[in-house]
Amino acid sequence: MSILLPVVFLLLEGAILVFLPHLAGAAAYVLMVAAPLLTALACAWRGRTEAAHARAAWFVLAVALSIWSLGAFSNLWQEFVLGQANLMYRDSSLAFNLAAVPITFLIASEWQPAGRRLLRVIDGAHALTLGVAYFLLIWAMLTARGAPDLAGVTVIVRLEDAENLFMLSGALVRWVAADDDAERNLFRSLAIYLAAYTALIVCNNHLIAGDPRLGPEFGLLSTAAFALLAAFALHGPATVMPLHPWPRLVRAVRVASPLLLAGVLLIVSLFLIQVNYAAGAAGILIAVVGYGLRNTVAQMRHIERGDTLQRERSELQTIAWTDALTGVANRYFLDAALDRVWHRDLRAKRPLAVLMIDIDHFKLMNDRYGHPTGDACLRQVAKVLQDALVRPGDVLARYGGEEFIALIEDADAAGGHVVGERLRAAVEALGIEHRGSPFGVVTVSVGVASATPLGDTAAASLVKAADSALYEAKCAGRNLVRSMPTTGA
Ligand code: GH3
Ligand code: MG
Ligand code: MG
Repeated sequence: MSILLPVVFLLLEGAILVFLPHLAGAAAYVLMVAAPLLTALACAWRGRTEAAHARAAWFVLAVALSIWSLGAFSNLWQEFVLGQANLMYRDSSLAFNLAAVPITFLIASEWQPAGRRLLRVIDGAHALTLGVAYFLLIWAMLTARGAPDLAGVTVIVRLEDAENLFMLSGALVRWVAADDDAERNLFRSLAIYLAAYTALIVCNNHLIAGDPRLGPEFGLLSTAAFALLAAFALHGPATVMPLHPWPRLVRAVRVASPLLLAGVLLIVSLFLIQVNYAAGAAGILIAVVGYGLRNTVAQMRHIERGDTLQRERSELQTIAWTDALTGVANRYFLDAALDRVWHRDLRAKRPLAVLMIDIDHFKLMNDRYGHPTGDACLRQVAKVLQDALVRPGDVLARYGGEEFIALIEDADAAGGHVVGERLRAAVEALGIEHRGSPFGVVTVSVGVASATPLGDTAAASLVKAADSALYEAKCAGRNLVRSMPTTGA
């Protein structure tokens, strides 16, 4: 479809006014029905091509325009079929105001409301109450037929001004704060349309409508606003726009926009309370309680999501800190734990023992029995080492390949040696067959180093010392524990 269609419509309109001036009055009423209706069709057509949430939004616009068109039709009916003359028809005015309800709903609602049915229900209840409030207000303010009620007309004109300005600012904010292409496109169309519509309606209500010298054809000016919206709707799919530069604004508007629906309901209820106290008070109550309820629900969802994220985070952290093959802590965890324990013992002036444990002749095991058997052996050794560390603060980690490190807090070299011997004996006692080894079973060598941390030393020096002790154990024949003497590192 082409955006020329709205231009053709406006040209046709101009042609009727210029060339068929005797028909201008009647044509004006017909065109006022046709323009919003055609624009509604354009919006519905646009909705078809959009993704789910944008489609719903364009359909909501189509509904609003259709309601507006009903109002224009009611004007036509009263003037031509019933032959009445009134400044502001009650049914038409109701339709024009009701058309604002879906638009307010659209501006207030979240763009991607997945899984938020309860919030939608509350918004829906607000919108419904708003519709009822408009109905009660207009029924009280305007007379059904016959002589116009000027005081009522003034109130309704003022209400429409407030409502249009409110919607226009809402749409502008949503346009500026949209961070999705389709959303930005929709609210840009809506904001520009509402700007033109508000300007023209203000002109019409304040200057043209009250002036008996100007005929109904001047009301036709507002068709330009509809043509503008139709042009945007027919302009095709959203263009890809860069990421939003102000993410805080996006968040702020997302949080604040639901206030709009309750806000409009509050304003209309304040108008209503002057003519119908009970209904006005009920409207105010529903606006306030509804908004409170909405916030509570949103807050609950927020907390739930926070808890889920926290849980997922700790699950991920466990995975990140675990060695996939053996299930004991990995090198990342060891580095962090070493740093933590080192500083704790530095404050407490306690010795810390580091045990480096290396499987003897492991390469030969892989060569003779194959890698899968080697892996199974690593798992068994890791488990028995872990089980042999009985104190809750002790840490066992896979350092790499077939090497493990144990951190034993509050242990000097002698204490570390005792633990090292326990670990060595536990692995030997497993009795895993290893014909490549002179011991006939899988064994480990253990290097022990212990130090009382001092401020200017690094934990890495202790690991290095344990590695040297391990080297000595290997040189001395393997399946042995060797210690470096305790130092104040
Ligand atoms: P030493 O007694 O001197 O420690 O001899 P070694 O054979 O154990 O030492 P070396 O460092 O020569 O070999 C270590 C072997 O460990 C080499 C590699 O094949 C094996 N290895 C390292 N990581 C893994 C692993 O994840 N799975 C298996 N199956 N083998 C591994
Ligand atoms: Mg090794
Ligand atoms: Mg080895």
